[in-house]
Amino acid sequence: MRAVVAGGSGFLGSHLCEALLRRGDSVRCLDDFSSGRAENVRHLLRTPGFECVSCDVTARFRVAGEVDAVVHLASPASPYDYQRMPLQTLAAGSRGTENLLDLALRHHARFVLASTSEVYGDPAVHPQTEDYWGHVNPVGPRSVYDEAKRYAEALSMAYRRSEDADVGIVRIFNTYGPRMRAQDGRVVSTFVRQALAGEDLTLFGDGGQTRSFCYVDDLVRGLTAAIDSHRTGPFNLGNPEERTVRELAELVLLITGSSSRLRFLPLPVDDPVRRCPVITRARTQLGWRPLVPLDEGLRRTVEWFLAQPETLVRSPERSAVGWSP
Ligand code: NAD
Repeated sequence: MRAVVAGGSGFLGSHLCEALLRRGDSVRCLDDFSSGRAENVRHLLRTPGFECVSCDVTARFRVAGEVDAVVHLASPASPYDYQRMPLQTLAAGSRGTENLLDLALRHHARFVLASTSEVYGDPAVHPQTEDYWGHVNPVGPRSVYDEAKRYAEALSMAYRRSEDADVGIVRIFNTYGPRMRAQDGRVVSTFVRQALAGEDLTLFGDGGQTRSFCYVDDLVRGLTAAIDSHRTGPFNLGNPEERTVRELAELVLLITGSSSRLRFLPLPVDDPVRRCPVITRARTQLGWRPLVPLDEGLRRTVEWFLAQPETLVRSPERSAVGWSP
């Protein structure tokens, strides 16, 4: 398969590029490096079939040669990133999605959109099935991200219905693992960085809000299954094991052996209280389910951070909307 991975030098994208190359596909990574890092894919540059092109998918760009699949991961994704790049975030969901859908359509290629659990907002239904329409504040601080993804889903469905495009939508729930940026303000990377630096772990509210944490290798298997399928979804991709944020913090302390303490801060605006995917659709239609338990995934993540001490010492990136994908 000749795949185009937009956002391929980011956290998830770089793991996806690796997985596709490993099974013999060729990969063109398109990235503007606004939140991704060149070092995430540097080790792939000598791999036959891999190419990395610096480009902004919201502008005009050209992709030469044949294309069988287009995967759209190109968007600021952490609260820190989408708050410092609000207009770029909206453009990535709108113009970026349109440009990549057009590319897929021209080549009769499969198109997969990386959407998010954030389309459910602060959900009034729990756990979340794909039929739930969500509870999103359209003018709140998270809206640039949530509404960009909701628009991207609507646009993808319009191409599916009116142009017969081969579209698949995956709604990714909180995913963690090696190559997260220690300072990106997401909950797992924040806790690991704080624990390793001996700082207090900062929890919002009483830490009783829940999230589901999926290890990156599991998520990438789900993405690959969506690429290989012709099904539209949307598909929830996440780990249905629900954990409180306080449980996560305590597990991070245990795994790192840190003596850091927990510090409780006021709840940010629109912080979702509960998050947990129903994954029956992905299980039955894509044959996918997560396999890596949280303690094992966290161990691998901590090991990776320990091997990159320089990433831990930069000052933290701050966000008024808290952590979460
Ligand atoms: P990331 O920030 O590490 O990766 C995003 C990549 O897209 C970066 O490499 C960035 O430089 C690139 N990018 C952004 N705007 C671009 C543009 N206009 N043109 C070209 N490249 C651009 O984030 P991630 O966690 O790897 O997320 C990847 C995708 O998955 C995002 O679309 C995100 O919304 C989605 N997602 C991720 C999670 C998660 O838990 N990691 C959860 C839900 C959804």
